[in-house]
Amino acid sequence: MVATASIPTAARKRASELRELVEYHGQRYYVLDAPEITDAEYDALFRELVELETRYPGVQTLDSPTQRVGGAALEGFSKVRHTRPMLSLGNAFSHDEVAEFVRRAERAAGAIDAYVCELKIDGLAISLTYRDGRYVRAATRGNGVEGEDVTANVRTIRSVPMNLTASGLKLPDTFEVRGEVYLPKVAFAALNARLDEAGKPGYANPRNAAAGAVRQLDPTVTAKRGLQVFMYQLEPPGGAHTQAEVLDSLERMGFRVNPHRRVAKSLDEVLGFIDEWATRRHDLDYETDGVVIKVSALALQAELGTIARSPRWAVAYKFPPEERETVVRDIAVYVGRTGAVTPVAMLDPVFVAGSTVRRSTLHNEDEVARKDVRIGDTVILHKAGDVIPEIVRVVVEKRPKGAKPWRMQERCPACDSQLVREEGEAVRRCLNPLCPAQRREKLLHFASRAALNIEGLGPAVIDQLIEHGYVNEPGDLFTVTKEQVLTLDGFADRSADKLLKAIEARKRVPLARFVNALGIRHVGEHTAESLAQHFGSIDALASAGEDELLAVEGIGDVVAQHVARWLASDEGREVITHLRRAGVEPEQAARGEGPWTGQTWVLTGTLDSMTRAEAEEHIRTLGGNPGSSVSRKTHAVVAGASPGSKMERAQRLGVRVLDEPAFLEALDAAGATAR
Ligand code: NAD
Repeated sequence: MVATASIPTAARKRASELRELVEYHGQRYYVLDAPEITDAEYDALFRELVELETRYPGVQTLDSPTQRVGGAALEGFSKVRHTRPMLSLGNAFSHDEVAEFVRRAERAAGAIDAYVCELKIDGLAISLTYRDGRYVRAATRGNGVEGEDVTANVRTIRSVPMNLTASGLKLPDTFEVRGEVYLPKVAFAALNARLDEAGKPGYANPRNAAAGAVRQLDPTVTAKRGLQVFMYQLEPPGGAHTQAEVLDSLERMGFRVNPHRRVAKSLDEVLGFIDEWATRRHDLDYETDGVVIKVSALALQAELGTIARSPRWAVAYKFPPEERETVVRDIAVYVGRTGAVTPVAMLDPVFVAGSTVRRSTLHNEDEVARKDVRIGDTVILHKAGDVIPEIVRVVVEKRPKGAKPWRMQERCPACDSQLVREEGEAVRRCLNPLCPAQRREKLLHFASRAALNIEGLGPAVIDQLIEHGYVNEPGDLFTVTKEQVLTLDGFADRSADKLLKAIEARKRVPLARFVNALGIRHVGEHTAESLAQHFGSIDALASAGEDELLAVEGIGDVVAQHVARWLASDEGREVITHLRRAGVEPEQAARGEGPWTGQTWVLTGTLDSMTRAEAEEHIRTLGGNPGSSVSRKTHAVVAGASPGSKMERAQRLGVRVLDEPAFLEALDAAGATAR
């Protein structure tokens, strides 16, 4: 050990500063799910601390974050002590560091004939306990020794099996299965869009969003977030002697295991897997931030053991962060359908994480001020959760001379009325119900896929309908005449008929779609569905007061207040009356009985012709049940583009797999009508 006296003061000071920083950011990330810096920045601080502690072992303190697994159990959950600690993983940031890991392992354990390469899922570690074949408990990692009891919340994740007694396998009385809970990219983007719309801060990445969903005090909230799991560890491992066998047995037991894994016999094969996934990862429907490389033989794992916070037999290779530099050409201001005014950075086009990005939302004026983004600035851009473009920071050294701090305008760019920032809100709003920008956004929303889904009624047509003065509010769409449509650019006899037919067809829509289409603040697809379920008819909803709204499951004070206020407002009454007068008759979605009653249909991958929500709606309308995991009882699996492990599982279990055209045919045959 290096004598304390020989440690330079500067090193000691820096180490203490780093400990504090790492501790602070760890707390923000693990406990509050609200990091302030990127993972790459955190990793750099952590690494600098490790390097200092290695160089001057005397600076290391017992409570250094390098010695502990990050995180702590949240108040509000009961604590669970893990039977064996849940560890973190050592990191490798380059091929050389992976090679170094392999060398070290082989030096300690002799020749190693197989490594298992798995994708590192950007979620949070979870431990499930089964007793007599039944699910009894779920716990988060917490600080590695003690985690949070999240049994009720994890029960809502449909791919977590509750009962394994039917598997026919011989199982130990009690065993633990560990893995990762995560939020698919689409669910992450949708959640952040909902939060953004409600003027609340979004999650920085899917991992924090997943942690937030798992740690809800109300399991019904968790259930709506769309969490998923991949499992990778079994304790005790039963008859398995290698990690490869563990994964296979988990799969046989009915757990969801990531199909993208490889047994590598050499360092070259490990590096090959890493290189392959460095690009392929953008095609997955969940985020992976690296590859975990594990010594496969369990006996060798035991021999290698663990140090401080991580096992010696595994390492996490981290993909380099996909960050690019680009220039902010302008900061535009958009007025949304609820009047919220959003600054958006207009960027020099730049290719990042699989696609070209031209703009990036800056959310609100506080965010612009916090990041101090100015027109002309060079900025670092990345994609949160691999989907949402986000400015990480400004490269201040490259700031053009004379660039001024950006200021949000005081008046609405569309109607010039005074913008208002309500107390406790981060956004300014235009409160003028007649504002043309809001009107346009409301109509666009009304016709959009998630709302009335009127085919052929996109922005170009809506803009013209407004310009010609044919349409002011949703009800007007149903009174547009053929003569009027023929005056719009690009329309001839047949196309005009087609558009009018598409509009006419949407006079009968499920109530939930109708409610979502109204564009009430805080009401998106989910809330609309709850309202429709609860009230059953538009008349019942229209006359509901705040108290009745509060009685709806999943609706809290703020939403109840907004909905009640909207329904009672002149604008709300008029929109609804006008739509009804135009002949629009929302109906409660028929549920239960239909040609597919009793059948479970599971969707995997993306479909070209409809969203997942739409496909599920079709299935429900026909009486079927859209399931999320495949078992022998599944009626069929519909596989779209880049299907996940569900398809492979279906094939193994002999469950029928349909591609998109076959699914459309089946819908047709069952008499589904475009909803
Ligand atoms: P880690 O994420 O580097 O690795 C350990 C974890 O990987 C395990 O606990 C497990 O949950 C997970 N994992 C995913 N797939 C796995 C697989 N196939 N096999 C085994 N494990 C798998 O370590 P950590 O301590 O959980 O977190 C560190 C990460 O958190 C780093 O990426 C760091 O950048 C980030 N972080 C960021 C901030 C910030 O402020 N931005 C703060 C703290 C931590």
